[in-house]
Amino acid sequence: MHRHALHRVQNRAPRRFDNHVGFYLSSARVSRNEATARFKTPISPMSDVFLQMSQKVLFTACGLALALQTIVLPQVLHVTASADQAQRRKSAESGEINSTQDALAQHGETARQVADQQRGRDKWLLAQKVDVRSDAKLDESLKAFEGETLDLVVLGTGKRYVRPTLERIISRNGKVNALRLKPQGETRGKTVYLKGIVKINAGRETVYESTVERATAAQLRGKRARELYEKKIEESQDRMRKRDITWWPRLSAEEHAAEVEQLQKFVAEVRTAFPALETTQTHEFIVATDIPSRQIGQYVKSLDKMHDMLCDLYGIPRGEPLWKGKCLVVAFLRQEDFHAFEARFMKADLRGAHGVCHQRSDGRVVMACYRGDDALAFAHMLVHETSHGFNHRWISPARLPSWLNEGIAEWIGTKIVPQCKQVPLKQAHAVEFMKANRTLGSDFFADGPHDKIEAIQYGMASLLVMFLEKRDRKKFAHFVRGIKEGQSVEESLRDAYNESLDELVSNFGQFIRVPLRR
Ligand SMILES: [Zn+2]
Repeated sequence: MHRHALHRVQNRAPRRFDNHVGFYLSSARVSRNEATARFKTPISPMSDVFLQMSQKVLFTACGLALALQTIVLPQVLHVTASADQAQRRKSAESGEINSTQDALAQHGETARQVADQQRGRDKWLLAQKVDVRSDAKLDESLKAFEGETLDLVVLGTGKRYVRPTLERIISRNGKVNALRLKPQGETRGKTVYLKGIVKINAGRETVYESTVERATAAQLRGKRARELYEKKIEESQDRMRKRDITWWPRLSAEEHAAEVEQLQKFVAEVRTAFPALETTQTHEFIVATDIPSRQIGQYVKSLDKMHDMLCDLYGIPRGEPLWKGKCLVVAFLRQEDFHAFEARFMKADLRGAHGVCHQRSDGRVVMACYRGDDALAFAHMLVHETSHGFNHRWISPARLPSWLNEGIAEWIGTKIVPQCKQVPLKQAHAVEFMKANRTLGSDFFADGPHDKIEAIQYGMASLLVMFLEKRDRKKFAHFVRGIKEGQSVEESLRDAYNESLDELVSNFGQFIRVPLRR
């Protein structure tokens, strides 16, 4: 069936038939000690291979992968299916070599460096004595957020603080003079003068916007960027209107709040069955979990990081609402509890699954999983599955073909959790397969609603996504956008990269130095 027709069917389908589930299954994992004993040298991740892309490095990875094949490999299954239908399962091989708990805490320092550079410019801006309208209500609106997270603070310099904590409001003569903010991921606070602020978003509403009589160049740039973004959305909607594609509605602050309330009610109901669940919230996620609080922090950070990275890739300004309310993540310590939760509250039989992302046609996304005994595999799975939810919520419910959806999930999973070696191992297996068969395997590009790539094709999918993204990040975003706006893969590929699928496969083959056909 042609992709357009598919989208129309999908968008018009009644809600209950459109509850897509992608799930990630893990069993029979190779023991860490066994793997470490066999491989004293850590495998270089495929991202390094991409930087060098020499046959030598590829052979090293493949050699290790071949050696790995002789021992019991972890099985990872991914399934996409309608909740109402029998789930089709296909297995994927993956590997686990290294494991450290602290592997996730990786970001933060660059933000501080930027802040240092910014300080000089803030001072310059203040010296310009920009006239800002003093908003009498501002004090009142901000008071409600003291100690809480704001959505966004934009400075006249163009700097954006996404999800800073408002530690304190500093007033002078009864008017807000400055804000004491703690930027996300940083431990130390920062004083930001109101005169330097262009915009404050809180509770998904704009609570402050400066009206400047003599706008600085930077302020004009910020305003222009905003206008461009709005224009981009209008153009996107025009294209979708022509293709009869229904896009996700932009929700009001009240609608977002109402959905968050619904999700919280749901969590409260779940807690009657699982009283050990505690709730943590970030700007984008509600995480209900019985994993100890000292452990969960890093996983939650990795979710926010994934969210921000995909925002950057797709050109969504950070802090813009994407989820319907928020994305709910229910993470259990024990497998039995995860399965019991799925059976009772989601009416799904997910025995054997490690994690699942429920993507409803009304826009709600609920991700559920259990930790198990491997911290890195869990972290990777969490990012992988939740990224499916992000792609579901971007622009429209139009479905990405399996290879692209899984390729992006694996790519972002390994970007956020590089210490998890599953993706490079799957890629090494895939390269071996492609060398032996000179093809991507049957039905790699099939994009029917129930088409799903094979286990061995996960490595190809992530390699191909990395190839597309490395060639040109903007074109890659353009390509994914086209599909979300209702174009077929071929049409969008032609638009973004000016090539056919056959040409893509042949260029990809040249890149990995394996002569390839579809
Ligand atoms: Zn997946």
